[in-house]
Amino acid sequence: MGWSFKLGRISGINIQVHFTFFLILIWGAFNFGGSAGPLYGLLVTVTLFTLVLLHELGHSVAAMAYGIRVRDITLLPIGGVARLERMPEKPLQEFVVALAGPAVNVLLAIILAPIVFGLAGGLGPMVLSMRSQPGLTGLLTFLLTANISLALFNLLPAFPMDGGRIFRAVMGTFLSFERATTVAVTVGRVLAVGLGIFGLINGQFFLALIALFIFTASGQEGAAVTAKSRLQEVNAGQALTRNTISLSPNATVAQAASLVMRGDRPDFAVVDPYNRQLLGVVSSSDVARAVERDQWASPMSDIMRPAGEVPKVTPNTPLLEVQDKMEAGSSRVAAVYDGPFFQGLISTDDVRRVFLFISRGGSAAGRALGKTSG
Ligand SMILES: [Zn+2]
Repeated sequence: MGWSFKLGRISGINIQVHFTFFLILIWGAFNFGGSAGPLYGLLVTVTLFTLVLLHELGHSVAAMAYGIRVRDITLLPIGGVARLERMPEKPLQEFVVALAGPAVNVLLAIILAPIVFGLAGGLGPMVLSMRSQPGLTGLLTFLLTANISLALFNLLPAFPMDGGRIFRAVMGTFLSFERATTVAVTVGRVLAVGLGIFGLINGQFFLALIALFIFTASGQEGAAVTAKSRLQEVNAGQALTRNTISLSPNATVAQAASLVMRGDRPDFAVVDPYNRQLLGVVSSSDVARAVERDQWASPMSDIMRPAGEVPKVTPNTPLLEVQDKMEAGSSRVAAVYDGPFFQGLISTDDVRRVFLFISRGGSAAGRALGKTSG
């Protein structure tokens, strides 16, 4: 996420804060400070975000238990975001990962409740009034109520909030992943509209802002899931353009540079001129690097990425799998082979082109493409 600062690292996960978070610290210092002053307010705000961080760590630990890498956790003014390498698509995994966050808050509330009730000398409305009294009792009471609200709010079935993910996971046990997402997105958007109206009427603009965030985020994630499942229906052969530029291994950097400058294609296939087999791949950035080092006369065989390191696919490989292979091999391109015969290169640009077309054309375009695959 742009404009973020790294705070530290917990079990391999980078913890960072968005720069707007500092504004919330200032706001919190004065809002929660009360008679005790802004320093106490700052302490309350920091402890509040510690709860948010623990919540996100809950999701992260559950995800890692399923072998899903957690890229980072970012604290934003509206809460935290744990960026997972991929979203669990198995309903049980999504259920557990989504529940793990609120579960941390429930657990903390269970630990805090007896302490707070002990300090208050029993249950009653005086517990709530303690919240605003500066001091240890006030802070602990604040933490207790904050944990309860965090758990309850996140469990609202408004996709993509935790409750919405749990809802999708449950729907996913008897619907397809795509159908379950559509249902969860619809419910999420209806709830977001309701929450937004409620926030505006009651002058709770922060709530209205969160509602707006839920509305847009659920739509985006829904569209991504739909496009992804369509990408599964399109295969490499359909996205393969017939204009892969082939160069001989003896072609020079100067020759390649003139092709790059004409802007035809950013990736070249280095092909054996006698048997048409792929020897390697050269990208425009490889050419640019060679030019920078003044290697104008160097042959392609010197600067290419050997064919053995380029992911291999067949014309029938689904585009989604092609994309995964390119990501796994950190390669911009994949080589398409029909049996032993090299057919051409497919690049991340090609995948993106099809992806954009499908996202715009909606399901009709996807189905039409799916049909032509026979
Ligand atoms: Zn959560």
